[in-house]
Amino acid sequence: MFNPSLYKNKKCLIIGGGKSGISCAKLLSQKLKAEIIISDRQKIKSKFNCVTESNAINKIDEIDFAIKSPGVSNNNPLIKALKARKIKIFSEVEVAIAFSKTENIVMITGTNGKSTTTYLTYKIFDDYLRKSGKKAILCGNIGDPVSKEILKAKKDDWLIIEISSYQIEDSTYLKPKVAAILNITPDHIDHHGSFKKYIKAKFKIFSNMDKNSFLIINGDDKILKTIKKIKPKILKFSIRNQLSDIYIKKQKIFLKKDKKSFTPSNIPGEHNLLNQMAAILIASTFNIPAKSIQKTLDSFKGLEHRIEFVREFRGVKYINDSKGTNVDSTLIALKAIGKAKNIWLIMGGVHKNSPYSPLIPYIKKYVKKILTIGEAAPIIEKELGKYCEIINTCNIKNAVKATRSAQKGDIVLLSPACASFDQFKNFEDRGKKFKALVRRLK
Ligand code: ADP
Repeated sequence: MFNPSLYKNKKCLIIGGGKSGISCAKLLSQKLKAEIIISDRQKIKSKFNCVTESNAINKIDEIDFAIKSPGVSNNNPLIKALKARKIKIFSEVEVAIAFSKTENIVMITGTNGKSTTTYLTYKIFDDYLRKSGKKAILCGNIGDPVSKEILKAKKDDWLIIEISSYQIEDSTYLKPKVAAILNITPDHIDHHGSFKKYIKAKFKIFSNMDKNSFLIINGDDKILKTIKKIKPKILKFSIRNQLSDIYIKKQKIFLKKDKKSFTPSNIPGEHNLLNQMAAILIASTFNIPAKSIQKTLDSFKGLEHRIEFVREFRGVKYINDSKGTNVDSTLIALKAIGKAKNIWLIMGGVHKNSPYSPLIPYIKKYVKKILTIGEAAPIIEKELGKYCEIINTCNIKNAVKATRSAQKGDIVLLSPACASFDQFKNFEDRGKKFKALVRRLK
């Protein structure tokens, strides 16, 4: 556990000078007058003392405590050197939370759906709290780092935090009032070492929670189902089981506790029903009235770049799912919007070393043409060429141009199943460029 009173005027090494590292440096120098050293593989611009990793190793005996940025590998020589000297290493999130004036902390994790659920939960809480002059704060993996936001939260405000398995693993102590684990499927194995270790990292989120707290889990998830006999109260959401704490019946969402029903938001896909159920269940632990929750659901349009409707042009609908950066999420997009064989699927980018074959049944059912972009094009052609016509348009501009021959009633879906870094800064940049091109069609 990070106890600020033990670290006043001490020397702190922050490993990784990204957004969260810099925010944490600011917080610690402001609140603890800590002397900060930031180490990074790259040269970074900041008012703090920034050094290379090898220089940091030379200074290691001066360091009182360290903070590890989530992207830094556990095999990093600096981390090994700190551990060998028994110098305490904390995560940015837990250090930030140590300065919190509120105990109202929600943490949301999972392999998929974190951002959507965290944002919706934040909106539900914030819409309700604003009526009485309080607020919710959205932070963590979504929006700004917890270190940047933490001092803005007053005693009765709520912090709604998206947290990744990396950040949980790096924390020595977390104790949210409510935690949610949305689902667990194999991901980030290279970082954690094995699927087992990835699961262990996720489960660590509830290790310090007590009987007054709540753990929200997906009751349909094979792995999450195994969680039993823990201190926090377990609440389950489910599409399949109507005995769960929240469930689906006749296309409505039913909350068992209050016998209340909700009309889901107008955002596509079964996955989004799960995300909404999780958010409502979290809100129910704070007894937010059903009417207020429903109002937020009615206004929720989903997040940018996640199955986002862009426009209709000559009867063709354009959808931006640039966040579909792996095969699994492209599959989810096809399932969510597929009704007939009318989809023009734009895919490709940096290949992620996993096969595209899980898409085959959905491509056969729903995809009219595949337009490929980026490095992965030849691999996609090789794996999917037998099942669908594929045109290598090379880049997003040509791909959008090619969709001019789509027919009325067709759907153009950008859901690349690949990372974006060969042709774009990130998935946001890819989605924004796609939307700009689509809006320019005339
Ligand atoms: P994350 O922040 O965990 O990456 P997002 O909310 O940004 O999640 O959603 C990313 C993608 O993950 C979506 O476009 C969709 O394909 C998929 N997804 C979202 N919610 C779920 C869910 N509950 N279960 C499975 N997949 C989901």
